[in-house]
Amino acid sequence: MNNKLLILLVEDEIAICNFISTILIHHDYNVIKAEKGKDAISLAASHCPDLILLDLGLPDMDGIEVLKTIREWSNIPIIVVSARGHEREKVEALDLGADDYITKPFGTSELLARIRTAVRHSQKIQEDNHPESDKISIGNLHIDYNKRIVKVEDKEVHLTPIEYKIIVLLSKNVGKVLTHDYIMKEIWGPYINDNQTLRVNMANIRRKLEKNPAEPKYIITEVGVGYRMVDEI
Ligand code: CA
Repeated sequence: MNNKLLILLVEDEIAICNFISTILIHHDYNVIKAEKGKDAISLAASHCPDLILLDLGLPDMDGIEVLKTIREWSNIPIIVVSARGHEREKVEALDLGADDYITKPFGTSELLARIRTAVRHSQKIQEDNHPESDKISIGNLHIDYNKRIVKVEDKEVHLTPIEYKIIVLLSKNVGKVLTHDYIMKEIWGPYINDNQTLRVNMANIRRKLEKNPAEPKYIITEVGVGYRMVDEI
């Protein structure tokens, strides 16, 4: 019996492709590879992988187009692989339904952690027949959604309604990066277009949650992209 997870690796640089696939196989994943966007789309359809690692710079088409096409019919978790400094590209990919992104060059442990998180997410969504958990704990941070209480080290944190909403949104997407636009739309609705409000709220949240707000542990800034609540500390 083979119950290893199957990863579709889309990468046109052979050396990188071989390197990543060796790591994945070594960590007990099955791997199929595509060098072109067209092949990626057909392999995604024919093999239904558990996760796709998608390089955005492909020879025949833009990785963003591959993402869009696959999202028309599938919720397979997709982690976008992008070059450093291409923040707009990452934001676009996330807004189009990518689950996460990783920036080249990346470390092995970071890659594996992102894969585990994305797979865990999609399995959680699939199992969503049973009721959503009403509590979450990350390190010393505890959130009780029913009682609307947030505690750090057993001390209740006093939050404004907006701050609470932001924390709930991030914690329900724990491990996942949410873009500025996405957070603002979810919290304030479609008509606000003001990064500053979010930034101010986030600064206040960090002051209340974090031991050292300058080096946050619970909510990480993804520069130029958004925020991520970590899923383990
Ligand atoms: Ca490439």
